[in-house]
Amino acid sequence: MTDANFTYGFETRSIHAGASPDPTTGARSTPIFQTTAYVFDDVDHAASLFNLQTFGYIYSRLTNPTVSVLEERVASLEGGRGATACASGHAAQVLAFFPLMESGDEFVASKKLYGGSVTQFTRTFKKFGWTGHLVDPAEPENFRKALTPKCKAIFLEILANPGGIIVDVEPVAKIAREAGIPLIVDNTLATPYLCRPFDWGADIIVHSTTKFLSGHGNAMGGVVIDSGKFDYAKSDKFPALSKPEPAYHGLTFTETFGDLAYTIHGHAMGLRDLGPTMAPVNAFLTITGIETLALRMERHVQNAQKVAEFLESHPAVSWVSYAGLKKNPYYSLAKKYLPKGPGSVFTFGVKGGYEAGVKVVESVELLSHLANLGDTRSLIIHPASTTHRQLTTEQQMTAGAGPDVVRLSIGLESADDIIRDLDVALAKSVKKAA
Ligand SMILES: *Cc1c(COP(=O)(O)O)cnc(C)c1O
Repeated sequence: MTDANFTYGFETRSIHAGASPDPTTGARSTPIFQTTAYVFDDVDHAASLFNLQTFGYIYSRLTNPTVSVLEERVASLEGGRGATACASGHAAQVLAFFPLMESGDEFVASKKLYGGSVTQFTRTFKKFGWTGHLVDPAEPENFRKALTPKCKAIFLEILANPGGIIVDVEPVAKIAREAGIPLIVDNTLATPYLCRPFDWGADIIVHSTTKFLSGHGNAMGGVVIDSGKFDYAKSDKFPALSKPEPAYHGLTFTETFGDLAYTIHGHAMGLRDLGPTMAPVNAFLTITGIETLALRMERHVQNAQKVAEFLESHPAVSWVSYAGLKKNPYYSLAKKYLPKGPGSVFTFGVKGGYEAGVKVVESVELLSHLANLGDTRSLIIHPASTTHRQLTTEQQMTAGAGPDVVRLSIGLESADDIIRDLDVALAKSVKKAA
């Protein structure tokens, strides 16, 4: 390319970013480098790798060539500087906070999160000495009000699981900037095809690649992406990045690696010491899934819109929470942040409450009753009896997972078939309630 500012389009980067034919075999598809370790040229080479003076492969807990392709691809799609892939979305959340937090530190997070994230933040993180303050994201100022001098990050889901809630991310990014701390956005439900949080001021993005990025319900994974724009050395809030690291002979990540400091720390400290490495075969499946991300997301959104409109007019349904419906309170935020469509995960309420909700999930035939989303297959779950059952009723209601709530992840089957299946199941739920 002669023009230095030229960048390939999203679809092109989905297929090519980070990958090139294998130099030894010519293999066009990215090989699965199913190896634990890599031979050193000599002792000096080994030493420079261990000292982080040379980039290269040592041991697959830290880096692996198949996983590196995935990292480069996702960083490219999100417009970030670098990425750290790992075993799951939950591992990504631990890795995202790890470079920022010391024991005793705090953060502010949206209350409208994946149920597992609420549990992770409010219970398990406590054991690390990390305290999360959860706030209602409907009012961006709530994030500012909850900040303390010990807060090192703000965390939110832009398109929130399970209720299809959209957070007005731009003013929250401004609050984070004024506080001198990074904004972390979980972009799992939107994917970079529908929304690019860095364009709205986010500093770090996390994904559960288990969902739409891999896209076929066959590979666990997570990824953390750094924009490369946040200056971690500007204050002394982030000593792990801006102060000498004894484990690497006093190397300072921000000084040595500049805008890659956060990402290198993710591998050299996060993956090295916490160990939630992504398996090479899962990286391969995720890379393959991402090749069709744009096409899949387009159809996911089309199908979701059709199903939501059908449910909205169904007599057994009391409400539908899909931001693609004009009546939805998030309709205008969706137009701003997700102009290609607000994803394919949403909830609806069945008349007849908990019992009717259970009957619907037990009556579907085409839809699968399971705890996942972002599959080619359409999925259904009753959060109150499954994903959100660890939460108190009050937390369930706050998270949009009350007793009558059914969550859908609309897949890529023929829309008419999905609709017919739901219609039959709803008819059974009415009989049950009667
Ligand atoms: C599934 C999910 C997670 C957790 O990811 P895992 O890959 O299951 O660990 C985090 N955030 C959101 C929005 C999710 O949907």
